[in-house]
Amino acid sequence: TLRIGVLALQGDVREHHAALAAIGVESVSVRRPDELGSIDGIIIPGGESTTMSRLLVLLDLLDPLRKALADGLPAFGSCAGMIMLASNILDTRPDAQHLDALDITVRRNAFGRQVASFETDLELDGVTGGPMRAVFIRAPWVESTGDSVEVLGVVPDGPAEGRIVAVRQGVVLATSFHPEVTGDRRVHEFFVDMARSAQ
Ligand code: GLN
Repeated sequence: TLRIGVLALQGDVREHHAALAAIGVESVSVRRPDELGSIDGIIIPGGESTTMSRLLVLLDLLDPLRKALADGLPAFGSCAGMIMLASNILDTRPDAQHLDALDITVRRNAFGRQVASFETDLELDGVTGGPMRAVFIRAPWVESTGDSVEVLGVVPDGPAEGRIVAVRQGVVLATSFHPEVTGDRRVHEFFVDMARSAQ
């Protein structure tokens, strides 16, 4: 059976566990390097990326997690999790660390003050059943993507129309928004299917 880890250093860890439980998937919190060995995928939650970065270093988890991802561990990052997975971050602290698992450039807090937090309905490629409610909280957007990155979703309208907010590269998935807070479990299902196919 499948076990999904949730990186449990900071942020909305509980919401991701609840989303996985709701679709009948076993989940475990990950705080130590040895816990990476017993999972079939990992979720990096929303929260605050520079804090998460600091905690990863403090707990000696940065390099082991980076290595697990480089070795093909499936991963899903929401919001701050997307920032952590990226290969390049704009507007972050100079000492902020990241995981380099997704060939994208993200811009932190990209939506600016006026629309720092907002909700919209959007369609995701590969997710059926109509548009989903997407909740953005001081979210990043994807400024550019490498050749092997698939764009799955963009902001449909408004001042940020067309901005990339969902991407996938192989077994790595990331969203600028927070599917863990809406009760719509389709993104978690999508990720679990990815992890299952990778098994
Ligand atoms: N602004 C946060 C950061 O830079 C991300 C916000 C979130 O995860 N809701 O890490």
